[in-house]
Amino acid sequence: MTSNRFDLRGKVAIVTGGNGGIGLGLAHGLADAGADIAVIGRNEAKSSAAVADLKARGVKAISVTTDVTDKDAVAAMIERVVRDLGRVDILINNAGMSIRKPPHELELDEWNKVIDTNLTSAFVCSKLAYPALKASGNGKVINIGSMMSIFGASFATAYAASKGGIVQYTRACANAWAPDNIQVNAILPGWIDTDLTRGARKQVSGLHERVLARTPAGRWGDIDDFAGIAVFLASAASNFVTGTAIPVDGGFSVMA
Ligand code: NDP
Repeated sequence: MTSNRFDLRGKVAIVTGGNGGIGLGLAHGLADAGADIAVIGRNEAKSSAAVADLKARGVKAISVTTDVTDKDAVAAMIERVVRDLGRVDILINNAGMSIRKPPHELELDEWNKVIDTNLTSAFVCSKLAYPALKASGNGKVINIGSMMSIFGASFATAYAASKGGIVQYTRACANAWAPDNIQVNAILPGWIDTDLTRGARKQVSGLHERVLARTPAGRWGDIDDFAGIAVFLASAASNFVTGTAIPVDGGFSVMA
């Protein structure tokens, strides 16, 4: 293989939740490697700012305002990306949220909201993007799990279930779509400084200190920590890597 194994020029990526946090960090990596990007989110102001940021990196970028829990909206979004950017080679299922309550306090509608946003949306986006990913000839799906794909926490009832589910869903798709030369992998972020965890730090007392003490790298992750793994899993560099769940966690998952 030549030195261009990480080159993403001519590729098109959909990044759900790409307008901020980890999704934007992933999108930065893809754009810097040359991919055009469709940013998917609900907040139009955040999405416009992300598109301007990505365009400044020299690639095409669009935003498609979409609630990923709405199947019809996802179908329209994929049609729009194919129409405006020409193809879909890379799908990153990153949109996510949490409702932090112990199992006996979580309501059914709250459970459904977390599962729909974090897990069912990945199924819907992947299923509907599959024809375009297959047509790409070397499609890539990257699902975002969590340390809650491995561990549990009293406040992560539906969240841990969704993130455990996303790893098993990744393995199923990797098997199903290998004949189409589509690789499907998961990234398991450790504790990363984003809007999501700024909320958690307010709600869960002592969390900040526990994360620092429990992370061998001795710091919270930054969205820039996701650019490299995005390029690896989206490029030809990972063509024989499928069905994996790769922690990006400063060692959190290997500390005894
Ligand atoms: P943020 O809250 O910063 O980002 C969440 C993103 O998801 C936003 O861009 C938001 O866009 C989008 N989103 C949420 N719900 C929907 C929806 N229904 N439809 C469309 N977009 C939606 O959080 P993070 O960057 O921290 O989280 C990104 C992913 O990483 C999530 O899956 C999260 O579970 C996971 N993760 C995060 C960790 C961390 O420490 N931060 C650790 C482990 C995993 P908008 O507001 O425009 O709808």
